[in-house]
Amino acid sequence: MAPLPACRALLASALGPAGRLRLPPPAAAARPSSGPGGQPEAEGRSQATAMLRHLLLKLRATGPVTVAEYMREALTNPGQGYYTRRGGIGESGDFITSPEISQVFGELIGIWYVSEWIATGKPEAFQLVELGPGRGTLTDDILRVFSQLASLLSKCDVSIHLVEVSPKLSEIQAQMLTGGKVQSNPEDKSAYMKGISKTGIPIFWYRDIQDVPPGYSFYLAHEFFDALPIHKFQRTEKGWREVLVDIDPEVPDQLRFVLSPSSTPATQNFIQPEETREHVEVCPEAGVIIQRLACRIEKDGGAALVADYGHDGTKTDTFRGFRNHKLHDVLRAPGTADLTADVDFSYLRKMTQGRTATLGPIKQQEFLKNMGIDLRLQVLLQNSPDTATREQLLHSYDMLMNPKRMGDRFNFFALLPHHRLVHPDKKHKPESKSPLPPVAGFDELVLK
Ligand code: SAH
Repeated sequence: MAPLPACRALLASALGPAGRLRLPPPAAAARPSSGPGGQPEAEGRSQATAMLRHLLLKLRATGPVTVAEYMREALTNPGQGYYTRRGGIGESGDFITSPEISQVFGELIGIWYVSEWIATGKPEAFQLVELGPGRGTLTDDILRVFSQLASLLSKCDVSIHLVEVSPKLSEIQAQMLTGGKVQSNPEDKSAYMKGISKTGIPIFWYRDIQDVPPGYSFYLAHEFFDALPIHKFQRTEKGWREVLVDIDPEVPDQLRFVLSPSSTPATQNFIQPEETREHVEVCPEAGVIIQRLACRIEKDGGAALVADYGHDGTKTDTFRGFRNHKLHDVLRAPGTADLTADVDFSYLRKMTQGRTATLGPIKQQEFLKNMGIDLRLQVLLQNSPDTATREQLLHSYDMLMNPKRMGDRFNFFALLPHHRLVHPDKKHKPESKSPLPPVAGFDELVLK
């Protein structure tokens, strides 16, 4: 499907030429979609990290912990967590993400928000709320689109709200988005930091979505939900048992998985009676956050775009670790590797409890094609001065779109108010209103 002529001008000229090109080194790869644990990296097994020592003390004192507890500690412990201290996103880090590969990715997402803003009658203000902004690259690319469409957005009061728990990454984001000119603990706000973007838009940082002020908002979660802690369950002859993390009695300073001897509160609460799989992962924190987004969108309007790898309630063991762009044993050297699990989109849909409509998940290649990535690539290729730049553009396009790379592995999923998809009085007077504009990405992009 090609984007309609109405948006051609926008994609072709308003976004301008390539601002900067990004490309992963040949060795860098997106995180593979499945495979538990993977091949451990060659590294001394007995070398206990500070995080491992902390966990060993805890396990000795209290006994085994849930995988969710282990994952939360390993990723976001305020002292030694992976995101707190390392947060290795990008070429020199542990894993690469789409916004770090190509500026086109963030540009098309920026256009998605503008097209939703237009489709809902150009409200006079909106907040862009990003959950887990990483290095801030995606927001930076979106802000460039907003700035290039300044004449369209001139009467709209736009503000940026970033939900980030990692002090290290929030510093990197502040540098990227404001040049480092930020104020900590502003008195007038629930934010822990604020600043002004290079394009003059206010930016606020929070630790929790609940701290973000209410109001018409566009939410964005790219590779965020996969970083939230999961519970793991195994079907046994005696019924469902939760997978726990314990100390390996055979090997010093090593952790192992064990099964809970009886059912736990989580087994009772999270496993559906109709479940047919043998192994199930559930991320209650993702459920809580999606519920909050759905409540906010139902009340104040807006939309949420979730992009991640995942499945629709079909996969089993997807918990895995990454370090230096390689699979890493999830129980080895906690705090030094990224831990992640596929997002269960069927669970997210269920947790909206019908407060909003949902679209997707659809594959990244389909979403980006509908958003006009091919046209954008053509423009950039035409404007590229040299062969090396053109090759880079084609390579990053392939990373994003090739089904064997990120094209089929990543999915887009959206929450929208019901009235965005169906006229409130459609049931009674189906012929009375003009059709609602299609939702870009899930359909062809149409901008009027
Ligand atoms: N969206 C970025 C980064 C993805 S990595 C990209 O695509 O490049 C996950 C991000 O979520 C990091 O910024 C990490 O610090 C943040 N994060 C992880 N757990 C979080 C939590 N519970 N609350 C807020 N942010 C969290």
